[in-house]
Amino acid sequence: MRCPYCQQDDDRVIDSRATDDGTAIRRRRECQACGKRFTTYERVEGEEVLRVAKKDGRVQSFDRKKLLHGMMVACEKRPVGTEELEAAANRIHHLLLAEGDREIPSSRIGELVMGELHRLDQVAYVRFASVYRQFKDLDEFMSELKRVLGGGRPDLGGQA
Ligand SMILES: [Zn+2]
Repeated sequence: MRCPYCQQDDDRVIDSRATDDGTAIRRRRECQACGKRFTTYERVEGEEVLRVAKKDGRVQSFDRKKLLHGMMVACEKRPVGTEELEAAANRIHHLLLAEGDREIPSSRIGELVMGELHRLDQVAYVRFASVYRQFKDLDEFMSELKRVLGGGRPDLGGQA
């Protein structure tokens, strides 16, 4: 990145984080030639910047909507609002952007989802965790969870 002060192309990134709306990554940089600091913004093209490495080796683009949908399925008939789930999906998205890895193991996303659900609703958390642990993959998990929830087994997740 060319320094706006001295035009040298020799800088060091000192901080990276996602912007509040999650559409860009803000990086603080320090020019190694003149020592001045400047900020760059890398726009996120849709959500292409993050890729998810699935357990079977396939790589897909990160899909925030799919993530949100998975959490909605886990929270079905639970007192968790769409806004809370939106906020949780955004937190996960921002955290992944801020971590700066372009390719994320799907298991990492599962962990983050479990963390959010744990805070939001115990039943949703147990639903997610009990099914997810067997699959270790968000896609597989979601189709199984939908099947189970839609298939007349409302006891999943332990009402006790
Ligand atoms: Zn400079």
